[in-house]
Amino acid sequence: MEPVVSSRRPKLWIPRHILVTRSAAEHPHTREVLARAERAGVTDITILRSDRISGLSGGDERTAYNRAKATLAVVVSPPSARKLQPIAPSADWRIDLARGCPAHCQYCYLAGSLSGPPITRVYADLDEILAGMDAYVGRGTVTSADAARSGEGTTFEASCYTDPLGIELVTGSLAAAITYAGTHDFAGPIQLRATTKFGLVDGLVDLPHNGRTRIRASVNADGVAGRFEGGADSVPHRLAGLGTLARAGYPVGLTIAPIMPIDGWREQYTALLAAAAAALPADTDLTVECITHRFTPGSKDVLESWYPNTKLEMDPERRSRKFGKFGAVKYVYPATEMKELRSWFNEAVADHLPSARFLYWT
Ligand code: SF4
Repeated sequence: MEPVVSSRRPKLWIPRHILVTRSAAEHPHTREVLARAERAGVTDITILRSDRISGLSGGDERTAYNRAKATLAVVVSPPSARKLQPIAPSADWRIDLARGCPAHCQYCYLAGSLSGPPITRVYADLDEILAGMDAYVGRGTVTSADAARSGEGTTFEASCYTDPLGIELVTGSLAAAITYAGTHDFAGPIQLRATTKFGLVDGLVDLPHNGRTRIRASVNADGVAGRFEGGADSVPHRLAGLGTLARAGYPVGLTIAPIMPIDGWREQYTALLAAAAAALPADTDLTVECITHRFTPGSKDVLESWYPNTKLEMDPERRSRKFGKFGAVKYVYPATEMKELRSWFNEAVADHLPSARFLYWT
């Protein structure tokens, strides 16, 4: 099946409401956010008198969801965000520039990990967050400990809890992080990592990235992206953005996720890989990461309340159970299905993108 090319232009999110907490108002990055928001035409900006985010309650669940998804809060990061955690298999450390995402993916992995209304919070203390990277250089236990990936240096993943490019028009946090990673004098090699479902990369092209940031496009078969990824750019736009970044000298990647064995999956994922090959210059420094669809009892409950009419398959009876470090259960595809998918992707990626490095399958 041919991928459906949307005629819509690629876009970045513009919130309808902005809330700034009292402590956040004092940080220089907040001025940058507010200047960007004003340029983007946001008029509903409230400086709160305390650090408690208010003004989101009222109305039914749908109204609360819609208001939260249309709101950007500028806050100071909690102390836990500044104590970096390993994030296998992607990176040595997770670095959060924001928490929450305005898109509406019906399988969103954030549903199970963030509590409360799905508001996007951008961190005002960006300078302190970036300055904190120094203490972790040379201390990685995930990619640094992997012989095949140790050449990447100490890796920092910036998209665990947000889509940093999706909110970039009004935050500028990703550009600041790329510039910092590219120009700061670190004690050893590092790589900043970010993945996105957006394609408007104009603000990133001329940054002094110094090859130290790898941006990946999160992509999927048309039968998944077209049905379940509301509010994100079309896959062709994401790939076009990735091609632009590759031509600007960035190392780039594909995050194929979440992989689902939908009807016609072989044909659809073949079309996706062919489209990726066509969008990227031949000498691109390209990696591929493959993540199969999974859910938890908690994420299923939240997603079914946000998207009550979803056609997304989240049937525990059709899945195998996988237990995490602390006994939490995840529902993944059964071993036979997983094996078939994995061996197909290994071969298909090698066929269509022969110079890509396959980083992991999960
Ligand atoms: S783009 Fe990513 S973080 Fe945002 S809603 Fe979709 S899956 Fe969630």
